[in-house]
This record gives sequence, C-alpha cells and structure tokens, in this order.
Amino acid sequence: MAILKIARMGHPILRRVADPIPLDQIQGGAVQQLIQDMLDTVIEYDGVGLAAPQVHQSVRLVLLCLDPEEGFEVWINPILTPTTKEELVSTEGCLSVPGLRGDVSRPSEITVQAYNHLGEAFERTLEGFPAVVAQHECDHLDGLLYIDKVDTQSLSFLEEFKRFAPMPEEEDGE
Ligand code: ZN
Repeated sequence: MAILKIARMGHPILRRVADPIPLDQIQGGAVQQLIQDMLDTVIEYDGVGLAAPQVHQSVRLVLLCLDPEEGFEVWINPILTPTTKEELVSTEGCLSVPGLRGDVSRPSEITVQAYNHLGEAFERTLEGFPAVVAQHECDHLDGLLYIDKVDTQSLSFLEEFKRFAPMPEEEDGE
C-alpha cells in the first residue's frame, strides 16, 4: 500500500498534456502498481476521482467512483465526446486545489471510449453527476483544472461554502 503525494495547483505537471499508455503495457507491473497506488491514494483522501498527473505521473489514466455501490473504475486513454448541447452546473472541488469549491458548467451527457484496468476496450454513455466527474478527471489529462472553467463569482473556501452554500455538498474532492 502506498499513498502518493498529490500535486497541487502551480505544479507544472498539472499543466502538461499527458501521454497515452501503450496498450501492451496496461497489464504490466508498472501500470498495475500505479493503479493500486492511486486507489490507495484516492481512498485515503476521500476523493471521487483521481487522474495520474495529480500523482506526478503524466499518463492518460484516471480512477473514478461513479456509483458508490460499484466502487472505483479505471479508465485508460479515455476519449470523451459530449452528446448534448445541454449544460449542467455543479459545484466542484479538486484534491489538487485544496480548500476551494466552485461552480462549473459542463455538457450534461457524454460518451466515453476507453480501456479498463485489464486493457479491454469499452464505450459508455454517462449523464448527470457521473458525466461531470468524468469530464473533471479527463480534463486533468489535458492539463486543465476546473478552476479554468469555474464561475469565478461562485468560488468559495470550503468553510464558507459549508456555511453559506444553498445546498449542502457531500463530495469531498475530485
Ligand atoms: Zn481534480
């Protein structure tokens, strides 16, 4: 078990476009170890998602918990495509931007094409909260942070957010 250090906003690795993982390496020791360490890390920090650049690995791999019953899933080399013009505004946080919350508007439905932790290709459509988490995490692979897209007037420290936000927010960070 290894809990990895989280890169915080300002670290250049968060601004790089991450590299694809060659498919023949997915089942190899290095990638499988990274997946295990990222799982330990995201659980330790109580996040709903974690992208490899957030743990100083500039590769296209994310972990997400889209359904608490199902636990975390692994997406490798994901490609997201919005399937609607409709946007959904939700409050986001990020383990790499600790202590802040802010509203971001994103397409409310997307399809993802990616590979799982076994290197199997899949395609899925997601809507609502899972679509938001997916976009937040996959933005990390392109060097983007939610703060780049946030409604700046909604930005809040966590303490003030909990005190003044109209709706209580359960998620702790992505
Ligand atoms: Zn994040």
